[in-house]
Amino acid sequence: MQPEELFGLALGINDPWHVSNIAFSKEQSRLDISIDFKRGATFPCPVCGDLVTAYDTVEKTWRHMNFFQYETYLTARTPRVKCPKEGCGVKLVAVPWARSGSGFTLLFEALAMALAREMPINIEAAHLGEHDTRIWRIVDYYVAEARTRADFSEVSRLGVDETSSKRGHNYITLFHDMDQKRLLFATEGKDHTTVKAFAEDLKLHNGDPEKITSACIDMSKAFIKGIREEIPNAEVTFDPFHVIQLMNNALGAVRTEEAKLFPELLKGSRYVFLKNPENLTEKQDKTLVKLSHYRLKTGRAYLIKLALQDVYFSPSRLEAEALLKGWYGWAIRSQIDPVRKVAKTIKEHWNGILAWFDSKLSNGYVEAVNGLIQAAKRRARGYKTTKNLINMAYLIAGKLDFALPT
Ligand SMILES: [Zn+2]
Repeated sequence: MQPEELFGLALGINDPWHVSNIAFSKEQSRLDISIDFKRGATFPCPVCGDLVTAYDTVEKTWRHMNFFQYETYLTARTPRVKCPKEGCGVKLVAVPWARSGSGFTLLFEALAMALAREMPINIEAAHLGEHDTRIWRIVDYYVAEARTRADFSEVSRLGVDETSSKRGHNYITLFHDMDQKRLLFATEGKDHTTVKAFAEDLKLHNGDPEKITSACIDMSKAFIKGIREEIPNAEVTFDPFHVIQLMNNALGAVRTEEAKLFPELLKGSRYVFLKNPENLTEKQDKTLVKLSHYRLKTGRAYLIKLALQDVYFSPSRLEAEALLKGWYGWAIRSQIDPVRKVAKTIKEHWNGILAWFDSKLSNGYVEAVNGLIQAAKRRARGYKTTKNLINMAYLIAGKLDFALPT
């Protein structure tokens, strides 16, 4: 067997194609494999599929996976066919080892996609000796292609949240299927139009916005408006984590203000008030007991926070509502401004807060995905474009089925 035949077998190249030449360059550490086709071979017309002979050829080169340390390229006279059928015209035929328009073989792309999940694209590009833009183009193609085949017809429970895309106030909004635990859609921005864009995309994937019965969001006006307009049958659940966070932020503000009045007393108490009593260290516990002997606003705000957390342990929506009413009365009469503000916010979002006791939807999973996306972003030292970040989000959480050779 000639080396050409051996390479043909290794590359899986079949009739009418064959390897016509192999050239090693030690200096350039490069392997060039030339591919040709038999004279008189016929190829399917890319438009109608009829078999036609070559009309002329165009030389094309594709980067392939390395053979050992040799950077490997495939070069072929690629035929153009001139189909006699009306409307077909002169067309470049498809080659079996690469997709149309790509400068890489399918196997190289499969490798690039496998590596994309393991390491930042810029690092991967350096390993492969390619510019990262070219690797991103591969990722972009396969993510978009896999998404065209994704089916969202069963989606009924939604989780929505934003995460930062760049430094400053740049965000992307992510829409998740809470049952399948997968990312359905991601888009730039965090205003109500992101929900409209999601609803459009859902319809493109056999989904139906009217079939969505619940949506878990934070208390942002934009998401509330977007859901009301675009997902009309969804009962909104406000993520409990965000509700408690509001109260924690208020408590922090109260403590900071009061620490200006009593710096010695409140010094080093920040973490004491962020924790629940059962999680305190012995020292923190002593601090809390000591502080409880003073009539501090911070102490009262802490108790109000614990009471709000307790509401979430209610066995039913009915009991939760009774507890929350009591809590609201206490908070609104507390004479502590940040706490009163939280009470008002909770009053305004009453039903969505209580909806949790029926839906039990929280954004824990959504926050975890945000954490993974942010970690990938940090490892990559940021992304040049928002599109890259969105593609990475799909790679991480989209559960996409990529059409790659194995
Ligand atoms: Zn044709």
